[in-house]
Amino acid sequence: MQIDVLAFGAHPDDIELTCAGTIIKLGAMGYKTGVIALTRGELGTRGTTEIRAQEFEAAGKIMGLSTQKMLDIPDGNVSVTQENKLKVIREIRKHKPKIVFAPYWKVRHPDHGHASHLVRQAAFFSGLKKIDTGQEAHRPFKVIYYPCRFEFAPSFIIDISEHHERKVEAIQAYKSQFHNPEKNKYGDEETNISTPEFLEAIMTRDKQYGSYIGVKYGESFLVREPMRLDDPIEFFGPEYLNGIQ
Ligand SMILES: [Zn+2]
Repeated sequence: MQIDVLAFGAHPDDIELTCAGTIIKLGAMGYKTGVIALTRGELGTRGTTEIRAQEFEAAGKIMGLSTQKMLDIPDGNVSVTQENKLKVIREIRKHKPKIVFAPYWKVRHPDHGHASHLVRQAAFFSGLKKIDTGQEAHRPFKVIYYPCRFEFAPSFIIDISEHHERKVEAIQAYKSQFHNPEKNKYGDEETNISTPEFLEAIMTRDKQYGSYIGVKYGESFLVREPMRLDDPIEFFGPEYLNGIQ
């Protein structure tokens, strides 16, 4: 099955925390969406690999994904190597996405930064047919970045107001990772991401981006290259009024 948008995260919960609202929205619009986690998240302080795999699958159902997979790149060692590039290229060629989502390269967690470069390079090299994986060469039209810890001046913001509730549900599918009353089941140790404040911060960020375009909740994205526009009069319709004035 051809996937329209394939979102890559370094760890099983990265997409849910960042661009899940957009993934859910695109699915609701009829596009085929998929998520690839480069690692199984085995270095996570709480939960086990098995628990995280179940959570990953549950979150995928909530997001309405057409495909989802965890690769076997070691957590904590997402390097830009030929071996890892080929693993990503195989997924891109298999699903032939039009758009690829990758983490923004300025990050706190080194895996996210490496994932950013790895996915960008793989998306390019996937288009070269002499790189032989036994599959047809395919280059996505665009690599689009989503923010992890640190932000950027957005190239555009997607209105996710109608899908925000479902995004929160997808995040909460990771019962072992984020705040929930049963936390003792997964270990007592509170982590940076298991506090109630962490989830609140995500909500606040989505609200802030929403406010930039005059809606309740938004998700921001970055494209590295200038964007081509053929008809700015058609493109900038009345819905832009709230965002820029
Ligand atoms: Zn991560």
